[in-house]
Amino acid sequence: MGTTLDTAAYSWYNVCMDRKDIIRRLYWHLPVLALVGAIALLACCRGCGRKKPVLDPAVAAAYAAIPAPGKLCLLSAWTMVTNDVAARKAVSPRDGSAAARLLAPGAVELPCAFSRVRTERACWDLAVAGDFKDKHGLAFDFWCGDVTQFTGFSVYFKSGAGWYQAPFSPLEERQWHRIVISRARAKGTEGSPTGWHAISTVRICGWRGGTNDTQLGVANLAYAEPPPVRTPEQIAAADRADREWAARQASKKGEWRGFWCHNYRGLSGGKTWDDTIRLLKENGFNAVLPNLAWAGTAFYSSEVLPVAPVVAKIGDQLAACLSACRKYGVECHVWNICWNLGHHATKAQMAALSAAGRTQVRFDGTTRSGWLCPSHPDNLALEIRSFLELAQRGVDGVHLDYIRYPDESHCFCSGCRTRFEAQYALSLTNWPAQVRQDPDVKAKWREFRITNITALVKGVSTRIHKDMPGVKVSAAVFQNPETNPGAIGQDWAEWCRAGYLDFVCPMDYNYDSPVAFKGVVFAQKRALAGVGAKTLLRPGIGLNCWPDRARDIRMAVGEILTVREAGLDGFCFFDLGARAEALLPVLRTGPTK
Ligand SMILES: [Zn+2]
Repeated sequence: MGTTLDTAAYSWYNVCMDRKDIIRRLYWHLPVLALVGAIALLACCRGCGRKKPVLDPAVAAAYAAIPAPGKLCLLSAWTMVTNDVAARKAVSPRDGSAAARLLAPGAVELPCAFSRVRTERACWDLAVAGDFKDKHGLAFDFWCGDVTQFTGFSVYFKSGAGWYQAPFSPLEERQWHRIVISRARAKGTEGSPTGWHAISTVRICGWRGGTNDTQLGVANLAYAEPPPVRTPEQIAAADRADREWAARQASKKGEWRGFWCHNYRGLSGGKTWDDTIRLLKENGFNAVLPNLAWAGTAFYSSEVLPVAPVVAKIGDQLAACLSACRKYGVECHVWNICWNLGHHATKAQMAALSAAGRTQVRFDGTTRSGWLCPSHPDNLALEIRSFLELAQRGVDGVHLDYIRYPDESHCFCSGCRTRFEAQYALSLTNWPAQVRQDPDVKAKWREFRITNITALVKGVSTRIHKDMPGVKVSAAVFQNPETNPGAIGQDWAEWCRAGYLDFVCPMDYNYDSPVAFKGVVFAQKRALAGVGAKTLLRPGIGLNCWPDRARDIRMAVGEILTVREAGLDGFCFFDLGARAEALLPVLRTGPTK
């Protein structure tokens, strides 16, 4: 019993001593254990955040089929990318982007962790020095995973302290394909680049349009050869193939098909509005957006805007257009350019408006006499009256364009300062620099600009929807509802959320392929759904902005199919001119039959 007790006591003592010892040991090892735990936790969290998008087997097989460089003249630095260490050395992630991963010698994956990293772009610097002076440009093989997560792509070339910049478009989705960027295309510069002979870095960026993880792939960075010159026979054969492909595409019932028409007389070459609208109707289009008004000119008998002298000679163009629209059963949404006085405004007209403090002033204090200041109450009233006058003319809709500031450097007129200070009870000591330097003032300035532009949309929409409910209110807007409010005061997702717009046409023009167009359209659709907007999204298709006329059919039909893939009810082409006259009969054979 005693023994048992002793034994028990001993055991208990020992256990206690052991535990104390363990605790003491733990105490001394605690910092080390905590560190190990923290690292494990971090690794786990990062692992979850970086969960690789799962590719379906067909896509995975396509991804694994990395093209061989063939006859490409690879950039010498890129030939060193043969293992993980070399890939990490050659490719530096920027803006919080994830590290590159070697896929195969000469091929890297650029993971886009958009679920975790919400920066404006996914971006990598490729340390591939080269002399591009006598070269056509840059070529590489490219993989784009989920294109709907991107609103665009850019390549930058660093030279000295500056950069050359060029946009590019993936031509295929989830297929390796060759991208060629000619030096001639790289027009934009930042800073002062030394020259094409001294390129030290190539930067590749994908502009974020979504929040899903995906990946880009880059392989075989090389000097580009000029594209082979096609023979007339080859051109004709390609054109024939495009036309046959277009004719095989189905039409879609009930689709809204619009065309912006910049020319106030309709088609040029002696054609009338009747000819113009008939051409649209015959080729399956059912809406026209004629540009008949600018802030400084009307091409119809207006009592609000100065009437262009040409109207006395050729007659009221709104009456002519509208009459043809009624004859052929085509909707007429008059395109009115806000704030911008237009090419027809006279110098005397601009001088008088400037003298009255009604035109814009740049950040540097210089006058921008062609644009009315949006915060000036007389300008706002004028613009609203011009839209109401149009709505009363029996049109199907009014269409706001230039519904924005020119850029972030406008408007800094003295009226803007006075009205800004009054609205926010501020007394600025360092105008205009303070609106860029002081974070609190900067936020208020951003809101002030957005409010000034929104006031016009709201003013027009409220009056028209109340007094003339049959008249639609729509707008042409820039492409990115996230960045447009800050840059140009254009908060178009909010206009849609608030119900000010019946339909909205983002100007999705400058894409070289329907694949790139798809990215931006899907991003816009998500943005509007995200704010619960009921406004119809009718993307602007940029016929006149495409660099290669020979690809008009492929581009136009491809983008129409993309609009349908996105489940949208229609689209709007820009612009009704000579290229449209060539394209429209081809569309009629298939997608707009
Ligand atoms: Zn101003």
